[in-house]
Amino acid sequence: MGGKYRVGVIVGDGVGPEIIDAALGLLDLVDAEFELTQIEAGLSRYRREGVPITEEDIDLMRSLDATLKGPLMTLPGRQGYRSVNVLIRKELGLYANVRPFRSYPRVSLLSLDIVIIRENTEGLYSGIEWRAPDSAYSVRMITEVGSRRVIRFALDYALSRRRRRVTVVHKANILKESDGLFREIFLEEIARYEGIEHDEVFVDAAAYLMVKNPSRFDVIVTPNLYGDILSDLAAGLAGSIGLFGSAQIGDHTAVFEPVHGTAPDIAGRGIANPSSAMKALSLMLEYLGVRKGDEGLIYASKAIDEALHRVISEGRVLTPDLGGSASTAEFARAVKCVASELLGSVT
Ligand code: ATP
Repeated sequence: MGGKYRVGVIVGDGVGPEIIDAALGLLDLVDAEFELTQIEAGLSRYRREGVPITEEDIDLMRSLDATLKGPLMTLPGRQGYRSVNVLIRKELGLYANVRPFRSYPRVSLLSLDIVIIRENTEGLYSGIEWRAPDSAYSVRMITEVGSRRVIRFALDYALSRRRRRVTVVHKANILKESDGLFREIFLEEIARYEGIEHDEVFVDAAAYLMVKNPSRFDVIVTPNLYGDILSDLAAGLAGSIGLFGSAQIGDHTAVFEPVHGTAPDIAGRGIANPSSAMKALSLMLEYLGVRKGDEGLIYASKAIDEALHRVISEGRVLTPDLGGSASTAEFARAVKCVASELLGSVT
């Protein structure tokens, strides 16, 4: 038997419960003990208790090895509660948001293999905003400490995975101070690393080039909002936002979640693509495996990735976002079956 891990589970709002349930089904195949703790956060808790998550639950998450989380609804406008996603990132110091996008044969518009590493705690998400009588202001805070830690993370990530190039994406020709600082720190840090190619691209050009010539990108490191927007672009090019997961990593714990939001338009219909949550689970197993030196978890993570790849590329069992007619449960069963063969266990 492998190691023992304490993992939080937030099923989230919208399609969250459906896809997180599908992902958790894969844990039966993994040779390790998972002590799962359900944490309620999001809209239902807000409606009942007036808060979307409690401080005790944030403290609990801080003490866990990792948390698997579904998407959480953030209401727009002034009457809504502040984003619980942003709160969790800030409170837990989850400064690096890692989003790998790899295309799949058949379903992707273009061939790409890009990892977007998004600064996750500051920028336009600083939460410093106010209204004046006839105007409104948002402070885009970029700090040296915040930039340096995510840039170092991105460079270490590229080195340890033998990725060939890191591109810093910014708009320092216009945002000379804030993006200027991010860029300066990137150039300072890259000078300390050997063996990684690097370059810089303005964010508008990055969007264009991602469509025209995606293979020019490998690892991207970028401030918060740019990373958010480029991620949705990459997901669309790669076939569906329902395919991709993300790792939000800090120094003490990490939270794994789908790249997409709550998808209220399809929630409760059993047709959401659970690949995003399965990929988030695979990223979590890899993180725990590397952190705790557990080869079994790293192997399980690779098997889940491979099972997703086989089922999606084969194209027989696909959810409607990819042009198929399979339900969330049917797709999840197909992936579990292949992963089980790869891991040599019986489901
Ligand atoms: P939120 O307000 O929570 O961000 P949203 O609808 O604005 O929700 P997303 O949830 O990211 O944003 O959804 C964007 C589109 O992608 C929607 O049409 C949604 O149905 C689709 N989508 C998102 N996730 C999935 C999924 N797992 N499977 C299939 N389609 C999805």
